[in-house]
Order: sequence, then C-alpha cells, then structure tokens
Amino acid sequence: MILTKESANYISLDEPKSFELLHPRSVDEALGLYTEERDGAYLAGGCDLLDQLKNQWNNPRRVINLKEIAGLRGREDANGLLRLGALTTLAELEHDAAIRQRYRALSLAASRVATPQIRNAGTLGGNLLQDGRCPYYRGPWRCYRAGGIVCDAHHGINTEHAIFGGDRCYIVSSSDTATALTALDASVVIRGRDGERRIPVQELFMSPSQDILHMHQLHDGRILTAIELPGGVARRSHFIKYTMRNAWDFALASIAVAYNPGAHPTGWRIVLGGVAATPWRLPKVERMLEGAALDDATIGAAARAAIEGAEPLAHNAYKVGLVQKLVEQALRESAS
Ligand SMILES: Cc1cc2nc3c(=O)[nH]c(=O)nc-3n(C[C@H](O)[C@H](O)[C@H](O)COP(=O)(O)OP(=O)(O)OC[C@H]3O[C@@H](n4cnc5c(N)ncnc54)[C@H](O)[C@@H]3O)c2cc1C
Ligand code: SF4
Repeated sequence: MILTKESANYISLDEPKSFELLHPRSVDEALGLYTEERDGAYLAGGCDLLDQLKNQWNNPRRVINLKEIAGLRGREDANGLLRLGALTTLAELEHDAAIRQRYRALSLAASRVATPQIRNAGTLGGNLLQDGRCPYYRGPWRCYRAGGIVCDAHHGINTEHAIFGGDRCYIVSSSDTATALTALDASVVIRGRDGERRIPVQELFMSPSQDILHMHQLHDGRILTAIELPGGVARRSHFIKYTMRNAWDFALASIAVAYNPGAHPTGWRIVLGGVAATPWRLPKVERMLEGAALDDATIGAAARAAIEGAEPLAHNAYKVGLVQKLVEQALRESAS
C-alpha cells in the first residue's frame, strides 16, 4: 500500500471543516433541521462523531446536537417493559443497581466499553449507531464500504476482522451493547418524518450482503429515540468480552447469553460480538441447549456447533478457537 502526499496529509488532520451547530429542543425540530439541509449529522456524546469530524472523514454542513432534547432522556418502567432514552449514558447503565440485577449482560457490556471518560459522555444510542472501525475504511483508502471496488483488509492486515457473514466486506460490529441488547430481545424506537416505528435491535444492523455501505438502518436522518427491554426479572443473562489488552480495547470477540434459569434452562439467546458486521446470533446452539442439562457433553457440543460455518481470513483464525472457548465459559458460568 503506497501513501500519496494527499493521504499522508489526511492522516495528520485534527481540525474539522466548518459546520453549522444547531440545538433543537424536540425530536420533530431535529428531524426538520436534518430534512431542510439533507447534509447533517446528529451529535449525542460525540465520542465517535467528533473524531470523524476532526479527521475530516465526515464533513456534514450541519451538526444537529440532540443533547438538548429532554424527550430523549430518562427511563420508564411499566408493564414489565423498561424504556431507556437514547441519551442514557453508558456510565448510567454501568452504575444502575436495578439494571445490573435485571439485565446483567447490558450492565456488564456497558462497563466494558472504552474508558470511564468515554462512558460518562457516550450514550446508549450512539454506542449502537457508531460506525465501523476497520482501519482501511477509516483511513484514506477507498474500499468497498467507502464506495470503492476493493476490500483492502482482505489482502492486508485482517487480524480483527469478521469470521462470519463476510461478503466482500469483513468489518465487525464494535458495539458491545448491541451484542447484549440482541441477547436480551430488546427493541429500538425510531422516529422519522413518517412517524414512529419499533424494531428488534437485531434488525437495526445490516450485513454487507444487505448494504455494504452502512452498518445500520439509521443513515437517512431518522432518530433513535429509545431502547426497550422486556421482562428481566425471571431471565438471567451474562456478557464476556475478550480483548487484546486489559486496558480499554474493542472486542476481538464477545458473547452475550440470556435464558430462563433452572436445572434445564430454556429460552436461550446466544449472541457473539466482534466476529461479524452485526451481532451474530447462534440459533442452532440455542436449539441444542433448549431444556438440556448443562453438563460437560452438552457444553462441549454447543461450543463445537458455535463455530460451524466460520470462515476465517489469513490473520484471524485464532477467533475460531476463541469463540469456542467463550461459548464454553459463558455456559459454565451460567450453570454455576
Ligand atoms: C477510544 C475509544 C474506545 C472505544 N472503545 C469501545 C469499546 O470497547 N466498545 C464499544 O462498544 N465502543 C467503544 N467505543 C465507541 C464508543 O463507545 C462510542 O463511540 C460511543 O458510545 C458513541 O456514543 P456517543 O453518544 O458518543 O455517539 P456519537 O459519537 O455522538 O454518535 C455516534 C453516531 O451515532 C449517531 N447518533 C447518535 N445518537 C443518535 C440518535 N439518537 N439517533 C440517530 N443517530 C444518532 C451520530 O450521528 C453518529 O453517527 C470507543 C470509542 C473510543 C473513542
Ligand atoms: S473489511 Fe470492509 S471496511 Fe474494511 S477494507 Fe474491507 S471493505 Fe473496507
């Protein structure tokens, strides 16, 4: 890979192009501001967006600050459904005793995101909607995901890339909370000019086969207003994240599990993170575990089934063994 003079300049940038900063007070006002210009970006905690702006990787004419919108904050707990405003911070999730008790996987996932400073500023909505982190995509090259005609990672360094669901692009979802929320059967509430809609978190994300240019459905100016979690009291859940370093780091692989506890647990959800462009659910493993006793034979068979269909690249075959171990560990910790 040869760096041109232009690309070397690009890498050293640390100053955004000028933009208009707007502070709407309602979701409708924010949607209106976006639609007027159609060249805008929403700002929540800014942990991802400000980086993109400073590198001039993303140069919107308008930055629309969502933080003044009271309707995107707060929580409501009614009829067995917990509704969290999209601006709920990761630190709030991490330190909330009720969330830790009812939705342990989410609490653990939030606590493993980045550093305390980023968790204080970063929001749950922004964590779900952060863009992919493939260094080729974020760099000055023009790969498939950036609208080009090549995957630089496929022939380059692909240590942290996908082992499942790759189709020309092998980027992975970096959101730890997405993995946990998928296992917890959460939904997201989305507002657009055409009204409000609810979809399962799992459907928010898009594989490269569905849309190679976007990680999620909200690239068209719609706003994620809330995240809704069902039940919780009778369910048990867990989250484990494996990283290269013990300090802050993105997941090389992670796992979230949720189930109805008992001698023969039921209602399994098993979801992997860091191994595909979307949270990667394992339906076959879920079916194998349904009503089974978590003995060594079942756990071993489930861990082997978890890696069926894995297609590692030149530098990430280690993820196959890692996934197997994470499934084993999550099931053993669920059984104890
Ligand atoms: C050093 C570092 C380490 C990190 N490590 C991890 C990690 O280990 N695990 C992990 O999961 N993440 C990690 N992240 C990502 C970080 O957690 C997310 O960038 C952060 O949570 C995003 O939240 P935010 O509120 O700051 O979003 P912003 O940066 O404000 O927004 C992110 C994106 O979402 C859009 N957006 C935000 N809210 C809404 C909304 N309500 N409706 C529509 N669009 C919206 C924005 O337009 C933008 O495109 C790391 C980031 C950094 C900088
Ligand atoms: S993995 Fe995807 S984002 Fe990364 S270089 Fe290949 S096409 Fe681009």
